[in-house]
Amino acid sequence: MTDLTARLSRVFGFSSFRPGQQEIVQSVLDGQNTLAIMPTGGGKSLCFQLPALCREGTTVVISPLIALMRDQVRGLQELGVPAGALTSGNTDEETEDVFRAVDDGTLKLLYMAPERLAASGTLSLLRRANCTLIAVDEAHCVSQWGHDFRPDYLRIGDLRRMLDVPLAAFTATADAETRDEIVSRLFDGMAPATFLRGFDRPNIRLAFRVKDSPRRQISEFAAARRGQSGIVYCATRARTETLAQALSAEGHNSRAYHGGMDSIERRVVEQAFQVEDGLIVVATVAFGMGIDKPDIRWVAHADLPKSIEGYYQEIGRAGRDGAPADTLTLYGPDDIRLRRSQVDEGLAPPERKSADHARLNSLLGLAEATSCRRQVLLSYFGEESQPCGNCDLCTLPAKIFNATQPVRKALSAILRTGEY
Ligand code: ADP
Ligand code: MG
Ligand code: ZN
Repeated sequence: MTDLTARLSRVFGFSSFRPGQQEIVQSVLDGQNTLAIMPTGGGKSLCFQLPALCREGTTVVISPLIALMRDQVRGLQELGVPAGALTSGNTDEETEDVFRAVDDGTLKLLYMAPERLAASGTLSLLRRANCTLIAVDEAHCVSQWGHDFRPDYLRIGDLRRMLDVPLAAFTATADAETRDEIVSRLFDGMAPATFLRGFDRPNIRLAFRVKDSPRRQISEFAAARRGQSGIVYCATRARTETLAQALSAEGHNSRAYHGGMDSIERRVVEQAFQVEDGLIVVATVAFGMGIDKPDIRWVAHADLPKSIEGYYQEIGRAGRDGAPADTLTLYGPDDIRLRRSQVDEGLAPPERKSADHARLNSLLGLAEATSCRRQVLLSYFGEESQPCGNCDLCTLPAKIFNATQPVRKALSAILRTGEY
């Protein structure tokens, strides 16, 4: 057993590394600038927590959500690791504990919200703490065009320059463009050691259907999974409300969730989803980051997602416990028109718009695939694989497949001509 695996088991209680973790841990430990792209649930936190313990000084962790930070700090403290957080949610006592640990030189991990980087005194605090490593969780928040963009993430580059220490960035967003943006904004364009691993989630069944009556299709899918926790993603706020009502009328326990609700209402739904069995949340993509429920058994898309990355992230919320999980994505000509016009009418510069059209096209390619969907999906992320046996195209009887041919032809025509 190496020192690292010994520490992994002694401190964290894990008997081995998950696929990909060890190389990342080693790179961070060696003080290399590192970019690690790993799917949700892959175990990214450990990849900075373990090196932080092995290195001199303190690792500052930038993370976008107070709830995520508090969870991690609580978890670390329970393991006996000296960790603390500076967030707006702190009690005075918690903040004093952090300052005391900094001055004692005992703190190993200091979590910080990006907003904190703007505060005067933060840099000198980090110097006083002997900060020797910056870890950036959810690094795609630095991408100006993603829907998780956080302006204060743009301050991290300055922090790295001023502290002059290595930086390790982590994200589950895999597309090449977001990666380039992370490299230019966090690493000043200097290529970090990059790790891209393990995008397959074999327990998640993949399926697409041409949309005819979405309400009926979603309700049949939900009815076949009654009592199981699930998410239905919709393209608009209005649709989350109507579909949630329709599902409730059919006797499901179902709630709408979208960015137009006030934060207290949203919190209520988030918490209910966490603790109740069998709740269906009908949501826009606002329901996402920070949802950490391991036993979501199904995810359905009532409308086509906007990109292949979005699709992957959204279905990836299902089955984090590794047990079988089901997905269904509906799509039709109206979805394609809607998504195209959302891109065209957005405020992004032209090169960005053409990239967004390309991401949408990749998703349509997946929807229109004629052989194993997982192979198509994984090849998009740069992984080769065999036919999976766990997608509709691997298991669908040929005659159902043939029945959808005319519709698929019509869709292909829209795709090719761009007439919509
Ligand atoms: P991510 O940030 O990549 O979504 P997390 O860091 O939250 O993933 O880890 C997901 C889960 O995997 C956590 O419950 C964590 O404790 C667990 N985990 C991480 N590494 C290992 C490991 N080597 N062995 C077993 N469980 C692990
Ligand atoms: Mg994480
Ligand atoms: Zn397959």
